Amino acid sequence: MRCKLLSTAVLAMVLLNACSRPATTEQQSVDTEGSKVQAAMQEGKDYHSFANPDEIKVTHLVLDLTVDFSQKVLSGKVEVEFERVKENARHLILDTRELDIHSVSNNGQAIPFVLKAADSFLGAPLIIDLPPEIDKLTIAYTTSPKASGLQWLSPAQTAGKQQPFLFTQAQAIHARSFIPLQDSPQVRVTYEATIRTPQALLAVMSASNDPQTARDGVYEFSMPQPIPAYLIALAVGDLQFKAMGERTGVYAEPALLDAAAAEFEDTESMLIATEKMYGPYRWDRYDLLILPPSFPFGGMENPRLSFITPTVIAGDKSLVSLIAHELAHSWSGNTVTNATWRDLWLNEGFTTYLTYRIMQEVYGDERFAMESVLGQQDLQADIDSLPDNDEILAIDLRGRDPDVVFSNIPYEKGALFLKELEQKVGRANFDAFLLNYFEHFAFKSISTEEFIAYLEQTLLKEHADSLSKARIQQWIFEPGIPEGAPVAESDAFTVVDDARNAWLAGTLPAAQIDSSEWVVHQWLYFLNNMPDELSQEQLAELDGEFMLTMSKNNEIAHSWLLMAVNNWYQPAFTRLHEYLVAIGRNKLVKPLYKALSQTPEGKTFAQKAFAEAKPGYHPLTVKANEGFVQ
Ligand SMILES: [Zn+2]
Repeated sequence: MRCKLLSTAVLAMVLLNACSRPATTEQQSVDTEGSKVQAAMQEGKDYHSFANPDEIKVTHLVLDLTVDFSQKVLSGKVEVEFERVKENARHLILDTRELDIHSVSNNGQAIPFVLKAADSFLGAPLIIDLPPEIDKLTIAYTTSPKASGLQWLSPAQTAGKQQPFLFTQAQAIHARSFIPLQDSPQVRVTYEATIRTPQALLAVMSASNDPQTARDGVYEFSMPQPIPAYLIALAVGDLQFKAMGERTGVYAEPALLDAAAAEFEDTESMLIATEKMYGPYRWDRYDLLILPPSFPFGGMENPRLSFITPTVIAGDKSLVSLIAHELAHSWSGNTVTNATWRDLWLNEGFTTYLTYRIMQEVYGDERFAMESVLGQQDLQADIDSLPDNDEILAIDLRGRDPDVVFSNIPYEKGALFLKELEQKVGRANFDAFLLNYFEHFAFKSISTEEFIAYLEQTLLKEHADSLSKARIQQWIFEPGIPEGAPVAESDAFTVVDDARNAWLAGTLPAAQIDSSEWVVHQWLYFLNNMPDELSQEQLAELDGEFMLTMSKNNEIAHSWLLMAVNNWYQPAFTRLHEYLVAIGRNKLVKPLYKALSQTPEGKTFAQKAFAEAKPGYHPLTVKANEGFVQ
């Protein structure tokens, strides 16, 4: 409806108001009741996809793509197979972002389509007019050089410096930037792919990878288990393979291969420990792919082939909980998936809980306790800084970029909730519940409400004396951490607290702190719990004694550099600059940029580092940090 100017001011105001609202049915129904409250959220509705799987559901993809490093594009075609959920459905709606769609066809016959205008977060819906009777079609397309899900690295940005590198990162809604598909976690597809690359390079995918494949520039893949779009993944580079166990191995550039295989050699033990607790691994092989340092995340749980940052290769296995985490996703997340991004906590919270348990099985109680304390401190830091609404497990993400959901809330608060359930019903009972849960929902995508309904039929019913629905609702739908939640403790940190307190009180010089037996976790706890303000003399004393500026452990270096920024300790700034330029993992660089942005001189420093680092950063790292340097 078009709006006209009316003669009376009152009528004009009324109409202007009506016209400025988006004309969705939901909004209108709220308006008619005269209420200003936001429309109720529809359970299980994916607000981050234009697709219509309730009418027509895509079930299988066949990709044939050529990797063009000179143009920074993928081009080729995808065959899309689908089922009609509603028999009379006439339109198939797919998600796309910045794709150049050349044609849509079936057996060579062109099929009409329109690509609608793009939304800034969601991309553009591709609406295809389906002829009756067909159940597949082929889309020819080319990606944009700026595709949000692809990162193209020049040889200089790799470890080997000789060959370029490409990797995808589809979570949360970036698969649509390299494949036109129903990009919603509630749609699961199987896929096959032919990937054509320069001959010297190897392509690997979240699918069947044959470690012995001939390097001929044409690689075939098949993923027989149905997966959501966000788990479709591809990487291409100068990659070599090294086996670590019967079912586990690592792909990496030659320069990193041996160090990675040594660092992660316990992967097979982790796999066996997890199977013992939560049932069989359902995905055949479990391999790791080590990416260049610009990878924006710690890891990405692409099925059969987790993508891993090289920043956790510390030389002493101190940061391998990341591998336990990505492996755990093979149960929580990849086998049982969140239906929408609001339900991400079902994925990351369960995975974080499983991570702690795997680490305890493989490395013992002390490590479990230390990692639990550090995780809880990370959670508390987010609780202290996030607005109330973003502390809710079942978060409202309507109208927002789903990438903002990745705080410690779905991870650590979700895990703490499960820890409380475990404590109340007993570990053996809770493990039995999880085993059944993974079996019951295997290869399904579920919403928060479906989880609660399942909990009510199982654990809540069996343990009505120790669990209450009100308490569960509080955990899932209210901000903060419920009073009386489990508190992690570690005896190994008591000596660290004592040393830090005595040093701060001036009664124990750094040189006399007996840290010879401290592990990385204790160092992190020592540094992370320092007061916000320290003197230059205090920082110089710590640095002189413990060589913190030069720490080769990326997590310790991170904690120390953050202290250096907050106290403007310039002797660390050459290292700080190198660190920001060399690493693109957002968890490590974002807090540093944020701290630098608090002062004019810090911002100037950050701008210089960001400008130098930007060509090597992933688009997601650029997006997350550019606000700090403007
Ligand atoms: Zn995860």
